[in-house]
Amino acid sequence: MSPSATPTPRAEIVVDLAAFRQNLDRLGELVATDTDGPAVMVVVKADAYGHGLVECARAAREAGVPWLGVATQTEALALRAAGDEGRLLSWLGVPGEDYGDAVGADIDVSASSVQQLNEIAAGTDSSGMVARVHLKVDTGLSRNGAPRSEWRELFEAGVRLQEEDRVDIVGIWSHFACADQPAHHANDQQVAAFDEALALAEELGLDPEVRHLANSAGALLRPDAWFDLVRFGIAAYGINPAPDVLDADELGLTPIMTVRADVALTKEIGRGDGVSYGHTYVSDRRQHVALIPLGYGDGVPRHASGRAEVRVGDAHCRILGRVCMDQFVVAVPDSVQAGDDAVLFGPGTAGEPTVDDWAEACGTISYEIVTRIGGAAGRVHRRWVNG
Ligand SMILES: *Cc1c(COP(=O)(O)O)cnc(C)c1O
Repeated sequence: MSPSATPTPRAEIVVDLAAFRQNLDRLGELVATDTDGPAVMVVVKADAYGHGLVECARAAREAGVPWLGVATQTEALALRAAGDEGRLLSWLGVPGEDYGDAVGADIDVSASSVQQLNEIAAGTDSSGMVARVHLKVDTGLSRNGAPRSEWRELFEAGVRLQEEDRVDIVGIWSHFACADQPAHHANDQQVAAFDEALALAEELGLDPEVRHLANSAGALLRPDAWFDLVRFGIAAYGINPAPDVLDADELGLTPIMTVRADVALTKEIGRGDGVSYGHTYVSDRRQHVALIPLGYGDGVPRHASGRAEVRVGDAHCRILGRVCMDQFVVAVPDSVQAGDDAVLFGPGTAGEPTVDDWAEACGTISYEIVTRIGGAAGRVHRRWVNG
């Protein structure tokens, strides 16, 4: 039985697509200028950070978003199979990758090396369409992208293959390392390095359609990094990309994911009773506890053990002891009963914890919480509202 056939899901992830579209409008405002402003890409990799690839992509297009971005060709092809026809960049190929399908499906691809560019050109030969390529330069992240010592040969190869009509170099791009820390010296260095890369590209005869550097935090904190296009991931899903420096109220974004479950069981425990594996929590009093039917098999981080809180009724209820594979226990008011609604996190507007609260409790970032929730086991029902 598919989980979606469950009439009343015991646990579910609810994604508010109206809030998503509003976030996209708001982000558009935040990067608008008197003249125009950069084009917007919404990054929908990793199943739209756990929010649903196809559903979020469709909503983004409805909101007028011209560009989508994904990491893998498989993700890009899934979007094309679902009917998406807009500009779409896929950026993380590996050696030996067959680019024919992507190029044939009108997907923009990225090259970080001459070898990769040659493989992409082979995709042009097999598909009969000219590959649209974004050349990626490493400006200081030391991750993907050509190192500075290879910029020239990469650009020269781009010029040559473009003259042969085997590729169309439509983009030059890079990615920030410390965009959520605006005072970090790496940011200035990366903008300067990117400017140098662009100058070299121009000198060698490249004239790309889009030059792009900024992710969510970069776009919101550094207008000088907008160039022609900004790539919004986390902020599109309503999550503050730089919680230490950006005020959530001023940002005006709404988290679009809510995770809830039915309370499976309640009981009384007494002084001296241990809770969950290892008895890492031992009760010092009589208290009412509730069982929540979600665990690390559903993407609830085990690091939430003893730390994170869920909302039941009006109460914030702390997790007692360890998160197990399928379930965990929380301390609840005496009035709570089996079948009551427990909210792990949501937009926070009804007093429930937010994903930022969970990230802090788990010692991680909100990106990881939303992307992993739901879990590989696929037991958590996902529902999209206001589509
Ligand atoms: C994931 C990713 C983004 C989006 O980053 P956010 O911080 O979520 O906005 C942008 N560009 C690249 C290359 C990425 O990998």
